[in-house]
Amino acid sequence: MERPEWNTAPIRCGRTKCSWRGYEGELSKEKKGMWTRSVCPVCGCQEYMFMTPGEIKAWERKKAKEGK
Ligand SMILES: [Zn+2]
Repeated sequence: MERPEWNTAPIRCGRTKCSWRGYEGELSKEKKGMWTRSVCPVCGCQEYMFMTPGEIKAWERKKAKEGK
């Protein structure tokens, strides 16, 4: 799969138990020595995955329900 352009595709946290969903620009910045890395704002996990079309639909439904 080709990698989408930065911050254009919704992502989910790499931890299956973590429910964070968002965009790359919404990840937290964590300082690690000389450089910063992007981590999940909820659990601090560095791994994330791009959502499948089904996951995106479910996420959008959830957001609509919450009125965000
Ligand atoms: Zn997480």
